[in-house]
Amino acid sequence: MKRDDFDILKEKVYGRELVYLDNAATTQKPRQVIDAMVYAYTHFNSNIHRGVHHLSQVATMKHEEARQRVADFINARSKDEIVFTKGTTDSLNMLAFSAGELLVKEGDEIVVSAMEHHSNIVPWQMMCERKGAKLRVIPLREDLTLDMAAYKEMLNEKTRLVSVAQVSNVLGIVNPVEEIVRAAHERGALVAIDAAQSAAHIRIDVQETDCDFMAFSAHKMYGPTGLGVLYGKREWLEKLPPAEGGGEMIEHVSFEKTTYNTLPYKFEAGTPDFIGSYVFGKALEYIENAGRDEIEAHEQELTAYAEERLREIAGMKIYAEGQRKAGVISFNIGDIHPYDTGMLLDRQGVAVRTGHHCAEPLITHLGVPGTVRLSVALYNNKEDIDKLIEALKRAVQIIQSA
Ligand code: PLP
Repeated sequence: MKRDDFDILKEKVYGRELVYLDNAATTQKPRQVIDAMVYAYTHFNSNIHRGVHHLSQVATMKHEEARQRVADFINARSKDEIVFTKGTTDSLNMLAFSAGELLVKEGDEIVVSAMEHHSNIVPWQMMCERKGAKLRVIPLREDLTLDMAAYKEMLNEKTRLVSVAQVSNVLGIVNPVEEIVRAAHERGALVAIDAAQSAAHIRIDVQETDCDFMAFSAHKMYGPTGLGVLYGKREWLEKLPPAEGGGEMIEHVSFEKTTYNTLPYKFEAGTPDFIGSYVFGKALEYIENAGRDEIEAHEQELTAYAEERLREIAGMKIYAEGQRKAGVISFNIGDIHPYDTGMLLDRQGVAVRTGHHCAEPLITHLGVPGTVRLSVALYNNKEDIDKLIEALKRAVQIIQSA
């Protein structure tokens, strides 16, 4: 599927054809996306929103068209609900700061889950420290899914906001975000969804989910690095104070008083990445042309196939085995250190990630030094999985004969 659009997949690593299975960290970019960057710099590079001249107007139009495309992609009600940021981490930091200022007072509670990425823990922890609030953590059940009963019990009149990943970057588990949102709303709490690992892999719809906020990164969606999105329902974005001050986000400035711009510009201080937004629009177009349902089905098939083949290896431990997953599988083999496995795979041209995957609390919960993580994208195929298995078998052989 679309493999020929990704020239990097023809690269050789240590003389072998690259097998790229580190897509949860970042995806590769198709030629259409790379060409879009060259096109933008060649044809309409000019700062946006404040120019009367032609190039500035074209750049502004392209930036706003990209915003509309993002809104359509996640089914937001309006493009005013789409704030461009630097990435998921930036979106969550902005949100934690702004929501903290507006909503949180001493003794209030914020809820995250035990399987979060550090980006969806630390900003909330920092805010809780500043405000004297308490961070509460949804525990995991034996099968590593969220303990929804414990979650519902945890919610109370002090809960201000719940922030959870739609898909775990370590386990690949798809969390029941609709149910999480419903329960939080019943108790008057808001919900933010970290969609960093879901946005390019499963269909996301903010109206159906009814989440109040959502964050994701372009670079994990075949788009450019350094760009991300914070979605927020209009009613909340209107109430939240901006996290950053500067140009673009203001209406009028005087030394006595500054008034803020309308949505979404109130949250976009300084020159935004208007080249990146255009390029990201092209990445979304690419995903849509490939077919979102087709991508999901393809990746489901690949992960099921990968789990099946991984089981051929003696001592294999797949985490959250058999759960519904979106493109990510974590495993370990016997007591082989994940780093050793990763190194030996790399030498055979296979790129996977090893370690704590920026989710140290989860790895501590698993009681291991880390895991080996494979993660697929639309261009991976069964041959990639076969090569991984072959390389894994060879790695085990080398370690066991050492
Ligand atoms: N949240 C999850 C679930 C992730 O997987 C990642 C990145 O791996 C992030 C947040 C942070 O994304 P970024 O580094 O693009 O800001």
